Amino acid sequence: MGMQATSKGNMPVVLLKEGGTETKGREAQKNNIAAAKIIAEIVHTSLGPRGMDKMLVDSLGDVTITNDGATILKEIDVQHPAAKMLVEISKTTDNEVGDGTTSAVVLAGALLSQAESLIDQDVHPTIIVDGYRKAARKAKEYLEEIAVTISANDKTILNKIAKTSMQTKLVRKDSDLLADIIVKSVLAVAEKDGESFEVDIDDIKVEKKAGGSIRDSTIIQGIVLDKEIVHGGMPRKITDAKIALINTALEISKTETDAKINISNPQQLKSFLDEENRMLKTMVDKVIGSGANVVLCQKGLDDMAQHYLAKAGIIAVRRIKESDLTKLAKATGARIVTNLDDLFEKDLGIAETVEERKIEEDKWVFVEGCKHPKSVTLLLRAGSQRVVDEVERSVHDALMVVKDVILKPQIVAGGGAPETYAATKIRSWAKSLEGREQLAAEKFADALEEIPLTLSENAGMDPIDTLTVLRSKQQKGEKWTGIDVMKGKIANMKSSDIIEPLAVKLQIVSAAAEAACMILRIDDVIATQKSAG
Ligand code: ADP
Repeated sequence: MGMQATSKGNMPVVLLKEGGTETKGREAQKNNIAAAKIIAEIVHTSLGPRGMDKMLVDSLGDVTITNDGATILKEIDVQHPAAKMLVEISKTTDNEVGDGTTSAVVLAGALLSQAESLIDQDVHPTIIVDGYRKAARKAKEYLEEIAVTISANDKTILNKIAKTSMQTKLVRKDSDLLADIIVKSVLAVAEKDGESFEVDIDDIKVEKKAGGSIRDSTIIQGIVLDKEIVHGGMPRKITDAKIALINTALEISKTETDAKINISNPQQLKSFLDEENRMLKTMVDKVIGSGANVVLCQKGLDDMAQHYLAKAGIIAVRRIKESDLTKLAKATGARIVTNLDDLFEKDLGIAETVEERKIEEDKWVFVEGCKHPKSVTLLLRAGSQRVVDEVERSVHDALMVVKDVILKPQIVAGGGAPETYAATKIRSWAKSLEGREQLAAEKFADALEEIPLTLSENAGMDPIDTLTVLRSKQQKGEKWTGIDVMKGKIANMKSSDIIEPLAVKLQIVSAAAEAACMILRIDDVIATQKSAG
């Protein structure tokens, strides 16, 4: 559905596609807030380790079970433009930092609820927006203030961060093992750049296969291809592999135009086929000439070419994804070759072994012991497809938080501690603001406390009592005190190992404040004739 914000005076206007409901002024604001609150309400019960999962059923009856805010919102069919903005922030947060998607939406919903009560008291949305923006800036300052700088490759802390991220997911029980392989994989692909690190998360290939248990998941120092070796006569394993990466077909290309070849006797047919074979043989000879014993090809491999390769004892795999070929190039040090005439020994990549192994009913090819193990594979396993899908989503979030901390090595507590701290600080800072803006800033503080409130509520604790104790401890300067949801008590988050990247917390505040302010600034929802998107 097309949607666009344009400027009218200094308030943006939402343009709806034909058929949308037009609303104006206070009614428009109320409607938008209500729609956005519904979205926040949906993910509200999923927040934290005791949050509930959602079962999403699509129109074909396919079922997804997840606790991941971004996934829940991605799958549901949202029509209302203001509600869509909340879906957007979960997406942005997912892309930027990978985790905190539920929190961002819960916070945005709380900011809008609080704003609603101010609008009812005739506080103009512009004043609320100003107050919120200032408070968001302050909140981020306070978060920076309590953040602790760590060493970017401190494995123990990275492990705890990965585990905290997975505490809220179905994989919690196996988070020890998963955290271990996640941290190993991110550190394997992290490259030092002066004082800091660079991490390209795409260097970590994630493959999943239903069957076995989560504990069978492993890290492979190399690349796993979900393809089999093309020919039965080829070896199943090669050690000291010399790998040619080819992104052209080992086939005789069909002519573009419809050429007709007249063959009038068997001799002509034979010489025609002989000629084809000779061409294929020449291609294979070029591969053999380079010294390669493994050919990994992005395109097709003719049967005859397979036969010649097999005769030469060479392993070949075809139709490999382009992205995998790139990863293979990085890992093995090979150069991807487009023209076989340009294939020489220096272009070959190196791996200790290339081997086909059986994974459940499939055969996959493992390229291991690579020359530059800057590319690794996480092979995720779980009892069923649905579970392995959720494992993949949780692993994605955990990979991202580990990356976040390596890039910005600063951490804060989890369990509602930093939100309560920032709320407390904002309340005293708000006193310096003018009348109504002060009200808005105070409401911002209330909204931040929605995180500890929801965490305790979802854990079956008394939210108000819990928050009251938490606030008073925070006021006494116990900055690491938060809610240990699994134990159902207030505790020191450092001792409970509940820690999170500062980057995630900052993103949550920015994304939620931005979305809430954008929604609050709309006072006209207008139906337009054609798609306005
Ligand atoms: P999000 O999508 O926002 O990451 P989650 O459902 O993963 O949502 O919940 C994240 C929240 O849960 C964070 O505030 C985090 O600090 C908190 N959390 C994670 N583990 C624990 C724990 N063991 N005790 C208390 N809070 C926790």
